[in-house]
Amino acid sequence: MWNASTKFEGDLQEGRLFHAYFLSGPEDQAPGLLERWSHLLLCRDPQPADGHLEPCGRCLSCQAYLPEGHPDSFWPRGSSLGVEEVRQAIQFASYHPYVAPRRVVILGPLRLMGAEAANALLKTLEEPPFGTVFLLYNQSRLEVLPTILSRCRILELTGEVQVPPEVVERVARELREFREGKVSATQLAQRWAQSHGDQPLLEVLALLLRDALALYTGGEPQAISAAEGIDLGPLWKGAADPWGLLLELRRHLAFHVQAENAFLQFLLRLEVGA
Ligand SMILES: [Zn+2]
Repeated sequence: MWNASTKFEGDLQEGRLFHAYFLSGPEDQAPGLLERWSHLLLCRDPQPADGHLEPCGRCLSCQAYLPEGHPDSFWPRGSSLGVEEVRQAIQFASYHPYVAPRRVVILGPLRLMGAEAANALLKTLEEPPFGTVFLLYNQSRLEVLPTILSRCRILELTGEVQVPPEVVERVARELREFREGKVSATQLAQRWAQSHGDQPLLEVLALLLRDALALYTGGEPQAISAAEGIDLGPLWKGAADPWGLLLELRRHLAFHVQAENAFLQFLLRLEVGA
């Protein structure tokens, strides 16, 4: 927590704020930290105290600050983060602040965001409204569209989910064999349903889709090297919206749709565009 806060407060103190921050960290800690940061952003005169910054507590903006909200901050705290919430956030960001030096939008956890909402947010981050700072969070970076992350200053509260490289390799190989017709969707869904409880399969799929997108757009894959002979590029080219499919898979598993069925649907739809 120290590191992320020190970096953020350094940016604020040195007057070089980014228009968007992404904080990865546990969902029971990240929102609290972002609330503190938002108060600092809203205060007109943050004060140094014990090597930290504290809101002054006296300015007009601090006086308007309540834990439930502030006229210059927007934080939808529902159980979903749909395109409607993102549109409201974008509209909010387009106005001048009332009392604070800037406006603040807090959004998260981003895993709740569907593909449409993620695209709306991405467009805004590509052409950010002047005078608004976006504070975004999610437990794992792997669940967030890489194009969104590339527009943010990334700060980490705690380490990422650790994904063993041998699992990444195995899943990549399985996906390739599936696309080459060497293993059927039913077979692979069965295998994944058996192993997903004790392996970070969704995180691995997220990593692989990110790599596939990187390869497709001429970037560098991170999880697996092209030298290993696993070309994931066509994955992205083929299916209409692999990221949307992964989000749907995650929802299905969270809502206890039978795992084998959830994986089967994912694979069949991934195959459609092949
Ligand atoms: Zn203040």
